[in-house]
Amino acid sequence: MVEDSTLRSPGRRLTKQRRLILRILESRRDHPGALEILEEAKKVQPSISLGTVYRNLKVLAEQGVIKEISTLGEGSRFDAQPVPHSHLVCRRCGKVIDVPFDLSETLDAEVSKQTGYLSVSHALTFYGVCPDCATEAERKRGWATERDEKSEEG
Ligand SMILES: [Zn+2]
Ligand SMILES: [Zn+2]
Repeated sequence: MVEDSTLRSPGRRLTKQRRLILRILESRRDHPGALEILEEAKKVQPSISLGTVYRNLKVLAEQGVIKEISTLGEGSRFDAQPVPHSHLVCRRCGKVIDVPFDLSETLDAEVSKQTGYLSVSHALTFYGVCPDCATEAERKRGWATERDEKSEEG
């Protein structure tokens, strides 16, 4: 296979890969993980590795271009939507959805005022059990929060 990228510096190649990864992430609304992004990236660039995808996702997250969402053991998920919003993660299947209403934007200003930190932002992630993962019995019990669940155990 003829590789035109051999003439380019490693840095430039990295930039091209990063742009590909970002474009894939921007086209999706389902908060994919590194493996899912790798699958799509391979259609364009078959030689791309999971390590490369992961490294570039980390850099993009550090730069604040994308958001990294922790799923408690299922591996990080990623989001390129620029509008600030919170996430809700299923503790069982790791599915990530956007919280469908706006949470107080005054939080950042309040934290800044109280601490003296500048350029404050926040990442709020909720964890729960999605309707697909909850059993019939659990749905019948109808506990809405983890605290409800715990209080029923004793
Ligand atoms: Zn689930
Ligand atoms: Zn999101």
